[in-house]
Amino acid sequence: MMDLQALYQEVILDHNNAPRNHHAMDCATCEARGVNPLCGDKLSVYLLLKKDVIEDVSFLGEGCAISQASASLMTEALKGKTTTEAQALFKAFQTLLTEEGAKPDASLGKLAIFEGVRTFPARVKCATLASHAFEAALNKDTTPVTTE
Ligand code: ZN
Repeated sequence: MMDLQALYQEVILDHNNAPRNHHAMDCATCEARGVNPLCGDKLSVYLLLKKDVIEDVSFLGEGCAISQASASLMTEALKGKTTTEAQALFKAFQTLLTEEGAKPDASLGKLAIFEGVRTFPARVKCATLASHAFEAALNKDTTPVTTE
């Protein structure tokens, strides 16, 4: 079995170097912005909803590897999900990163590698920025999300 720390670094670096779904979306039905002033992370996130299914998802952003990789992984996790499943995913992810002893929910898939970030409170904001921004987009909340 691969060491979790090594896997974590490999996945973060891979998604930071080659972010998935990294583009703006003209036809987006929902979008939101998120900033983490503490670290300088910025994200714009886009969702294309057909009824209650996320047909397409993308993001643009700049910032540290953790913030960009978590946004990239989040786009992969969200595509094809219903809005209800997406809300459950955000909650499971935020719980994993903020609650001591929380175990990764099976729905998280690769996002579970962020579990180790919980021991670095400043980086939790980097890791959860995408989740909060996508949640705001889904809720049609146009106020930019900030971690401060
Ligand atoms: Zn950051």
